[in-house]
Amino acid sequence: TCGFVAIVGRPNVGKSTLMNRILGQKVSITSRRPQTTRHQIMGIKTVDTAQFIYVDTPGMHLQTRDRNKAINRFMNQAATQALRDVDCVVFLVDRTRWTDEDQVVLDKLVHVEAPVILAVNKVDWLEDKASLLPWLESLSARRDFAAILPLSAKHGTNVPELEAEVAKRL
Ligand code: GDP
Ligand code: MG
Repeated sequence: TCGFVAIVGRPNVGKSTLMNRILGQKVSITSRRPQTTRHQIMGIKTVDTAQFIYVDTPGMHLQTRDRNKAINRFMNQAATQALRDVDCVVFLVDRTRWTDEDQVVLDKLVHVEAPVILAVNKVDWLEDKASLLPWLESLSARRDFAAILPLSAKHGTNVPELEAEVAKRL
């Protein structure tokens, strides 16, 4: 089998880091500065039984800010386009709080029929791991997610588990 997987989320949440971690190489530029990825980055991962095409999806948030800028319009269209034919979406949020930009991304997923897996990134920053549980529960009310997983893209924690969840949806 072969499947398209889109990685979505607000700027700086760790999409490129996650993609590089999954693919095992630096195909996508990561940065502390938001909006480093200006165009879509694709990567293919082949395992025994399946082939995954991952798409790092920048630009979903831009409409709210400066909707008249041509580059923003273009990127926004590209982001929406990427979601049309995917088999699975990985929606990345931060471990700390829900922001307006997260909501913008979630709103864009309203018409997406593919399963959406919520991944809560950067949990390596968490000192109090117990605080994660009520947080995950509050997130689960926002949409009927196919799965919810805490992880660290940077350290790789729980990333294989995420890949296993993705594999189930293809
Ligand atoms: P993107 O804009 O969503 O593609 O975000 P990037 O992948 O470029 O990451 C933004 C920043 O967050 C970079 O400085 C990353 O090193 C950092 N980052 C990403 N994932 C993690 C993580 O799991 N833990 C920590 N501590 N930092 C992370
Ligand atoms: Mg990026």
